[in-house]
Amino acid sequence: MKAFSAPIRIKRILGLSAVALCLWSLTAFGGREFVRVERVLDGDTIILADGRHVRYIGINAPEIVHDHYPAEPLGDQALACNRALVQGEKVRLETDLDRKDRYNRLLAYVYLKDGVFVNREIIRQGMAYCLYRSPNEKHFAALLMAQRKAMQTQKGLWADFQPIKHPYLGNSRSRRFHLPQCKSAAKTNPKNRRDFDSMWSAFYEGYAPCKRCLGDWQSRK
Ligand SMILES: [Zn+2]
Repeated sequence: MKAFSAPIRIKRILGLSAVALCLWSLTAFGGREFVRVERVLDGDTIILADGRHVRYIGINAPEIVHDHYPAEPLGDQALACNRALVQGEKVRLETDLDRKDRYNRLLAYVYLKDGVFVNREIIRQGMAYCLYRSPNEKHFAALLMAQRKAMQTQKGLWADFQPIKHPYLGNSRSRRFHLPQCKSAAKTNPKNRRDFDSMWSAFYEGYAPCKRCLGDWQSRK
């Protein structure tokens, strides 16, 4: 074996340390780990082969039938879209600041082996809308950009969407929009208040409908 002179040895050690650090950080933050998707529950939730439930960050897909509630329009299509993307596939997860939601589901950005960003892909196909939730906003801008494109090309949720003129109140902090008479809207701090003249423009700015007053938003679009 060839003996290296001291400076080369130091360089080698430094190089190897850098590689080790890199590998460590990838493992530590789950960057390299691929896990198989066991089951797709709906347009934004999956169960992994290791049993973990994952809720996609930054998006909200229409609900399928659950607990005696009927399916929302496009709920089944959103499920089919997610299934076509990830069922049985190995996916890589990326987390944001909150690791879990109140249902103990892992919050994640999900990627396929070929690099497809699943959260964004579902938005791109119009099968979900952007759902901002602080402090998990790492990829919100990218998701919103995809949503704007889906809106402009009238994909999924955005097909036959009439930009009907109607006042809505937005809260720039929560990024939710409300009917003007909603009790939650009344609590909005005036400095965070944002006025919209249509549901379309609220969505376009990345605001999501309040569940309380606009749970039926699809019938109003
Ligand atoms: Zn409301």
